[in-house]
Amino acid sequence: MRVDEISNGSAVTSKADRKAQLAPLDASKLRITLTDALRVVPPPEEQVVGKSYTDHMLIVSYDPQTGWSDPEIKPYGPLSIDPACSVLQYGTSCFEGMKAYLGPDGKARLFRPDENMARLKRSAERLALPPFDEQEVLKLVKKLITVETRWIPALRGYSLYIRPTIIGTRPSIGVCASDHAILYVILSPTGPYFRTGSEGISLLALGDPVRSWPGGTGGHKVAPNYSPGFKSLEYAKELGYQQVLWLIGGKITEAGVMNFFAVLEREDGDLDVITPPLNGTILPGVTRASVIALAAAHPSRIILPGIPNTVCLHVHERELTMSNLTLWSAQGRLLEVFVSGTAAVVGGIGRIGFEGEDLLLHPYKDGRGPVARALFEYITDIQEGRTEWENWGVVCE
Ligand SMILES: *Cc1c(COP(=O)(O)O)cnc(C)c1O
Repeated sequence: MRVDEISNGSAVTSKADRKAQLAPLDASKLRITLTDALRVVPPPEEQVVGKSYTDHMLIVSYDPQTGWSDPEIKPYGPLSIDPACSVLQYGTSCFEGMKAYLGPDGKARLFRPDENMARLKRSAERLALPPFDEQEVLKLVKKLITVETRWIPALRGYSLYIRPTIIGTRPSIGVCASDHAILYVILSPTGPYFRTGSEGISLLALGDPVRSWPGGTGGHKVAPNYSPGFKSLEYAKELGYQQVLWLIGGKITEAGVMNFFAVLEREDGDLDVITPPLNGTILPGVTRASVIALAAAHPSRIILPGIPNTVCLHVHERELTMSNLTLWSAQGRLLEVFVSGTAAVVGGIGRIGFEGEDLLLHPYKDGRGPVARALFEYITDIQEGRTEWENWGVVCE
């Protein structure tokens, strides 16, 4: 006999039964209310991520009695939440960072959105936020993008940044999981993330305090990972660096909110591409996974622009320290260091401050070395629909 048959036969409604009656998150129930006062799209030079937001947002909320509400696309505006609620007291919040790009056909495209949706689900689970079907969220994101396509800048390197967010809205200071939530998505037009020249991005390597730790939440995109790093970021900026390179026990983890790669020249003429392994202290970036896959595919399946087809890129997920980098640099083997993430795609590192000294890296035009530049071009070609690879580019229709 199945469990549901047992409970159907009894007068008592089990917790499982009540859960089964809760409305699932259902994209087909979407209601759209368009604004009657469209905003002015800022000129490209003012498109810095987070500066302006589009006309509309998507919002859907969860109530433990009824489940998920009907999703709504409505004019962008403030939320109303209880001052006692979980997110304000305990930081029960997670988010995603993805982008919509305009293809040559004028259609909006997403880049590997299933990966972001799966990560959003994992983050929500890590904070015990209410469950949802991530494919329904993706349908809603696509719909929002089609409503806001006029906001996607048609310039190369420009896109519409997408910020899906979930907050715990249980209206009580009780220290427990939030059984109320709001899931919303806002959009911000954006240009190139780092407007650096040949000097590349500068990092200050810091090991105390840390951003993440073994057994912690560093492998999830949860809000409580970020604010404790702001003080270190302010410190790095005071000393003239753009981002923090986060060390744990001397090992390199990530740079700011980007994954970290070093490229070494080998005696056989090939290149080693090294990145720290995902051990729970590192955010599993979609761009990181893409860099690894594309590097490994060269030259047998694709030819990365500017990299000879006689050169193999050997990818290694292994631990890296500042002394490794310093030694390789002194030996003249360190070709380049770069970072990856949705915001910057692939960005070249120009110098790394560590224990009072600067490790200066090879200067390159626009800061990116040959491997970073090749990956940057190939990935942006996929994102902006100029080339296709393994269904990574997904059209919003
Ligand atoms: C989002 C993020 C990244 C990059 O992930 P992508 O999916 O490539 O954008 C890297 N590190 C941290 C800490 C992040 O929050």
